[in-house]
Amino acid sequence: MQYQTQEIIDLLPHLKADEKNLLHKAADFAKLAHEGQFRKSGEPYYIHVFETAKNLALYEMDPPTIAAGFLHDVLEDTQTTEKEMTDEFGEEICTLVKGVTKLGRVKYQGHERHAESLRKLLMATAHDHRVIIIKLADRLHNLRTLEHVDEKKRARIALESIEIYAPLADRLGIGRLKGEIEDAAFPYAFPEDQKKISQILNERAEQTKKSLDDVYNELKEKIEEAKIHVKKINYRIKHAYSLWRKMQKYEMNIDKIYDLVALRIIVSSVEECYATLGIIHSLWQPMPGRIKDYIALPKFNGYQSLHTTIFTGEGGIVEIQIRTAEMDSRAEYGIASHYQYKKNTELKKPLDEKFKWLDEFKDLEKAVDKPHDFIDRLKGDFFSDQIFAFTPLGDVIDLPNESTPIDFAYAIHSDLGGKTASAKINGKMVSLDTKIKSGDIVEIVTRKDGVPKEKWLTMTKTNKAKQKIKSYLNEHESESVFARFFKKN
Ligand code: MN
Repeated sequence: MQYQTQEIIDLLPHLKADEKNLLHKAADFAKLAHEGQFRKSGEPYYIHVFETAKNLALYEMDPPTIAAGFLHDVLEDTQTTEKEMTDEFGEEICTLVKGVTKLGRVKYQGHERHAESLRKLLMATAHDHRVIIIKLADRLHNLRTLEHVDEKKRARIALESIEIYAPLADRLGIGRLKGEIEDAAFPYAFPEDQKKISQILNERAEQTKKSLDDVYNELKEKIEEAKIHVKKINYRIKHAYSLWRKMQKYEMNIDKIYDLVALRIIVSSVEECYATLGIIHSLWQPMPGRIKDYIALPKFNGYQSLHTTIFTGEGGIVEIQIRTAEMDSRAEYGIASHYQYKKNTELKKPLDEKFKWLDEFKDLEKAVDKPHDFIDRLKGDFFSDQIFAFTPLGDVIDLPNESTPIDFAYAIHSDLGGKTASAKINGKMVSLDTKIKSGDIVEIVTRKDGVPKEKWLTMTKTNKAKQKIKSYLNEHESESVFARFFKKN
């Protein structure tokens, strides 16, 4: 039998009896509430909420979130009232469902208003990030059944997913969901390109896998000799959409893409990650500029891994990624990943201030029994040390707290920084020492012959801006001393 609650419960071996009961109750409640409703595909509506809950279970979210997944369309689409839901399921679950319902009303305004939509979504979920995770799980199932929706609406939903929801998943570190959303939307958003890319993927993936096989066999032996505990070695094939985006940067030249298929090695400790990298570099020549240590310097969303690209010696070039099981899990599941941790190990300390919220992951062992506490603490820290503002086109710019438009301009490009004349925040002119807040849309107005000013040094927060300003001033000063010298003589 399909669509049995048990299927979802089986995905979550750690559930306690009362949590199982909660899921059964939510499933039954939703089934009854949506009775007689059907999707465009002709399927009972319940299947949609079941699949949403299942997506959440696959990300191993906590029971209230999965229950809210079952119930997420009940307030919007059925006669059930908030009071009834609160009486049955309590404040927490009802609040999650209300959050998702509210999010449904944030309308996508097209590419120009992209930043606006993203900001609204982030603001609406700031009090509980689980709301956005439910929304993402909901969206993923909608995308996977998009063929039943009429054509015009299809493209809109697909584009909105790529421009708004996938970046959000990325921000929350849920790499797997980001990839899944993009790939589900790709054929509807850019049908021609998607066809081309899947053809390239089919042709190339096998070929690349073969050169990785050789590398793998040789490497395996050496790693075993070194007594490194390999937990898993596998391939990861690049998601079609992200391959397409990358190829656009390289004039659509597939030969410039080295990570179409990458070898992924999961080992037991940070030390073993570096040891494995050492073995790889002693066997093969690494490509300069492509050794990335995201363990010591994690990405903004907490992603940690070592990456290197090597020449296989047979004319092949392949990428290898090395990380621990915890890092791997976090890369895939981000904010949702802490439920999967069985033990409290090896995050490298101390993390950059910007990643302070990641320290919370260390307390996981204690947090496992109290997932809500964990999320409560996490949401406090998640964005507190950093702000993220938007360009008018919706690109997210990460900055430390108290950054100004000058920092923002330098973060985009050093040329832009130096030419800053004035700035607008959310459409209003502001002075250049205005502190940017998370969610602000910042527009930099430049002057062609503009140059950095000394007073900017006290108006900037980022090292990048300060360094660029200083180096300009130094150069400029030495120039003028030089000029004066010649004038005198
Ligand atoms: Mn839905």
